[in-house]
Amino acid sequence: REKVIFISTGSASLDALLGGGVQTGSITEVYGEFRTGKTQLSHTLCVTSQLPVDMGGGEGKVAFIDTEGTFRPDRVKSIAERFGVDPQAALENVVVARAHNSEHQMELITALAAKFAEEQGAYRLLIVDSILALFRIDYAGRGELSDRQQKLNQMLSRLTRISEEFQCAIFLTNQVQSSPDASAMFAGGDKKPAHASATRVYLRKGRGEERVAKLADSPDMPEGEATYKITVGGIMD
Ligand code: ADP
Ligand code: MG
Repeated sequence: REKVIFISTGSASLDALLGGGVQTGSITEVYGEFRTGKTQLSHTLCVTSQLPVDMGGGEGKVAFIDTEGTFRPDRVKSIAERFGVDPQAALENVVVARAHNSEHQMELITALAAKFAEEQGAYRLLIVDSILALFRIDYAGRGELSDRQQKLNQMLSRLTRISEEFQCAIFLTNQVQSSPDASAMFAGGDKKPAHASATRVYLRKGRGEERVAKLADSPDMPEGEATYKITVGGIMD
């Protein structure tokens, strides 16, 4: 088995909270309210994943599943400039797929896994921003929660397998209401599915422009908090 790589979030304090960054070989989920920086964090990771390992990168390409239409090529370009990476080259290393419904989202994941297999070792990161948005639309009825949970579990299980097979990081965002316990991912109650995210980070707004990340669940790091900012160059301390 290849060794785990930690991909920088762009913020040293957030990286430290995560034990070095977003880990390859497992799933990291960030959840929080609107405007806490989930999408900006996703864009930052699109660039940092490509950096050399000694610069906090993964020396690899990125696949980005956009479920809300919030991917912005220009954001990737300005973040690339911050890290001294050619903006156009950085953008070309990000494969973006727009998902239109939850079933399509699953099809895209399958297609990307095939792409990862074709280009063995080329991809270091798969982002789904956001994991639940389309499920909430497709399974809107009260009686549909268990169907939704079942499909979601299948997706998480597939993602877990991809992270292990290709030794890539899986980064999921999830928009929730203002409580760290308002767990939307596991709507079926407090029972977690077999393939829950390994690392879960709750994001909230702090004072002014400040944002706060709280490590809610981790296989190997203690609970704690970190602060970060959202800037033109992406996520920073
Ligand atoms: P979420 O996905 O959690 O809803 P976003 O990642 O979209 O949130 O973050 C939105 C925040 O990012 C807003 O507060 C916005 O002001 C800030 N933001 C977006 N683009 C830039 C930029 N180019 N420079 C600085 N801040 C930005
Ligand atoms: Mg967003």
